[in-house]
Amino acid sequence: MKEKTDIILSVVIPFYNEEGSLEELYQRLLKVVDKDLMPYEFIFVDDGSTDKSNQVMCTLRESDSRIRLITFRRNQGKSAALSVGFQAARGKYVVTMDADLQDDPFEIPNLIGELNKGFDLVSGWKKKRNDPLTKTIPSKLFNKVTSVLSGIRIHDFNCGLKIYRNEVVKEIQMYGERHRFVPVLAYMQGFRVGELPVKHHPRLHGKTKFGSYRFIAGFLDLVTLLFRMKFLTKPMHLFGSLGLLSLLGGLMILVYLTIGWFHGQWIGNRPLLHIGVLGVVTGVQLFTLGLLSEMIVEKSSRTQLPLREDSDLML
Ligand code: UDP
Ligand code: MG
Repeated sequence: MKEKTDIILSVVIPFYNEEGSLEELYQRLLKVVDKDLMPYEFIFVDDGSTDKSNQVMCTLRESDSRIRLITFRRNQGKSAALSVGFQAARGKYVVTMDADLQDDPFEIPNLIGELNKGFDLVSGWKKKRNDPLTKTIPSKLFNKVTSVLSGIRIHDFNCGLKIYRNEVVKEIQMYGERHRFVPVLAYMQGFRVGELPVKHHPRLHGKTKFGSYRFIAGFLDLVTLLFRMKFLTKPMHLFGSLGLLSLLGGLMILVYLTIGWFHGQWIGNRPLLHIGVLGVVTGVQLFTLGLLSEMIVEKSSRTQLPLREDSDLML
């Protein structure tokens, strides 16, 4: 049963070793929100910090009942932190932001305004990004590829600052490092995704938590996600067609060689023979992989259907 609550705005903030920024962030947030105009809660998620972040937050929580603090015993990654924050969020609007003061709380009213133009998720766009080039250039490439492959026309998928309608955060499944693709996840569930340019500040305290491996990880995650997006419920369409292609190619080569053999050619030393055999074997394997995947899908077909909130499901 849904918990009854008067909260309209939930701000979810995952943090990992950000002791230098948290207090200042809280003060900045207070300048933007107004409990009479829009009852709010701040959900801080401590992703297993090992510095003084947790003490800072515990002290702040004592003085403000609108602060909720969720603490992981050990570091689980930003996606896990966001995911638990999403579960906890009670507001109609859910805003996420980074804890390192790079995202600007003053953008929250603008995000709400944009969301109400008819979106379910509005993603911030760090149009003027204050990060080193080693970060911004690969990130541009990554965003371009994600946009082209997913068909979502936005510029910045991985901005920490985003706003969602509550039903979006309750429906998307976040784990691993999927926080980079939240707009894709939402889009896959049929939600309307928008974008708004937002201010972005340089990092003042502490250091970034993501090294350059993020781009390889990000690319692999993207491939997985796109595969899911297109073939989750019909894997045979992918494996079957690749398998058929390989099988037919292999068979054609073998038929060609067989004709030659009947005409007295020695084919045992021809590289083409290996290619033909490989084609047939790979084709059969891909085909079986497709069949197996279909069986797994059927057995576990609990894929969530993207139903709108106002659907009349009860008979
Ligand atoms: N973060 C987290 N868990 C992690 C890594 C990062 O909660 O394992 C938080 C971090 O404290 C910050 C946000 O995620 O609030 C974004 O991280 P960061 O600023 O390092 O990313 P960047 O801005 O460099 O992309
Ligand atoms: Mg940052």
